[in-house]
Amino acid sequence: MTRILRAAIFDVDGVLVDSPHERAWREALAGFADPAGFTTAFYQSHVAGKRRLEGARAVLERLGGAGAAARAAAYAERKQALIDRLIAEGSFVAFPDAIRLAVALKVAGLRMALASSSKNADAMLARVGLPDGCTLLSLFDADLSGRDVPRGKPDPALFLLAAEAVGVPPAQCVVVEDAPAGIAAARAGGMASLGIARLGDEALLREAGADLVVKSLDEVDVAALAGGVLRARAVTETAHA
Ligand SMILES: [Mg+2]
Repeated sequence: MTRILRAAIFDVDGVLVDSPHERAWREALAGFADPAGFTTAFYQSHVAGKRRLEGARAVLERLGGAGAAARAAAYAERKQALIDRLIAEGSFVAFPDAIRLAVALKVAGLRMALASSSKNADAMLARVGLPDGCTLLSLFDADLSGRDVPRGKPDPALFLLAAEAVGVPPAQCVVVEDAPAGIAAARAGGMASLGIARLGDEALLREAGADLVVKSLDEVDVAALAGGVLRARAVTETAHA
């Protein structure tokens, strides 16, 4: 099946920025459950991409013992206070490969949208400066981050809103995601999906059904994507880059 892609919808945490969510979830866990079980793999499988309360519930159901899920709201609140502080302190970095891809796709004329489950996404992207004096946030035509939808990822609601906001049919959108729940959401919405496996979790993203999985967004064939086709660059080309 060949699609013509005209819009790119970016997740934020783990795609554009190395955000402190995982750290905040882990540190907030003290007193609620044993943080030892909260590994990066656990975070990616059960928390990443989910909305705050759903994420908190998922953690406590698995690590907190009987009845712990009832404390999800309190855990979520403590996590939020922590992440607000970490973001204000600038405890995050933007991924250079993601900035390169986003700039290239913007220049190529794709419509650009942000669709993070997190309400903190804008605050981070507005703090990332680009060489031309703009911010990473300003590259995007629409920002649906943190928008209230009936269900979070893997439900496609947020991505469908993003497609609508940039005026492109879902079938002509590619979603850039680092979490299996996000890849599943893209598929459920009838969109193409690009999985970025920064943590060596290619298998999880493939299992979730990503159309293309890369370890660095520099592996994406930008010229092809500018022409509407999602694929990796030829190996020889990568070697000479
Ligand atoms: Mg993510």
